Amino acid sequence: MDLGIAGNRALVCASSKGLGRACAEALAAAGVDLVLNARGAEALEETAQMIRTTHGVSVDTVACDVTSAEGQAQVIAAAEGVDILVNNAGGPPPGLWSDWGREDFLKALDANMLTPIAMMTALLPGMIDKGWGRVVNITSQSVKAPVAILGLSNSARTGLTGYVAGTSRQVAPHGVNINNLLPGSHATDRIDALDQSTAAREGISFDQARAARQSTIPAGRDGQPEEFGAACAFLCSQHAGFIVGQNILLDGGNVNATF
Ligand code: NAP
Repeated sequence: MDLGIAGNRALVCASSKGLGRACAEALAAAGVDLVLNARGAEALEETAQMIRTTHGVSVDTVACDVTSAEGQAQVIAAAEGVDILVNNAGGPPPGLWSDWGREDFLKALDANMLTPIAMMTALLPGMIDKGWGRVVNITSQSVKAPVAILGLSNSARTGLTGYVAGTSRQVAPHGVNINNLLPGSHATDRIDALDQSTAAREGISFDQARAARQSTIPAGRDGQPEEFGAACAFLCSQHAGFIVGQNILLDGGNVNATF
């Protein structure tokens, strides 16, 4: 399918690896020029070079922490005038409700709620001026069904979801569509880290932790980052103009709900 976005320009935050990288690759395959970001400059440049070589699009990189005020300023400066914004950042650490104090919540809110809001606040006006834009926020299945050990994530991402629910309706009249993609378990470094943490907490092996987690997924496996990237590129496409403020689960059926 021709996504109709060749020649557009996208900012994909937190995109040297994992789901962010997969979104960047899928957009590049559709002919979209990119601004990529991650903290580690080496992996970021490797990813950028691979995408330039494979897809022939232009790729700028900004190596910084997108959750910091300085990092956001750098990324926004490099991305001014983009047509597409994919918000992403690392997820908060797992734990128990009694582990977390005010500072832990402020850090999680900064990373997974206030950072994407800051990026939208800065970049939506340019999209509105052009009368076209797409924003995809990478959140989590934990928005629809809590993952108890991810209380910091559950809290911050639900806050972002409430913001998007209203804001997406305010910008839709200008041809700008904001939606959220909710990953369930995908084969990235993040899920490796979570399985390692479960194994240590429960005194079982990494393979046992992984098998137990995967056994609860109706699809019987983790998602592939490429599947996630393709869904993101579709939401950023010309074909997605009537999809507004939605929360789309990519979880292999893991959230057991009718709607
Ligand atoms: P990942 O494989 O660990 O990749 C994270 C990417 O983000 C890396 O490129 C990393 O590079 C970059 N990054 C992390 N923190 C950053 C920061 N503060 N500023 C800039 N770049 C940053 O993670 P993932 O699995 O793709 O997950 C992406 C998001 O989806 C996370 O928020 C995660 O919690 C959420 N999620 C993932 C899953 C899953 O199963 N994978 C499920 C539900 C939700 P640097 O480290 O070099 O900065």
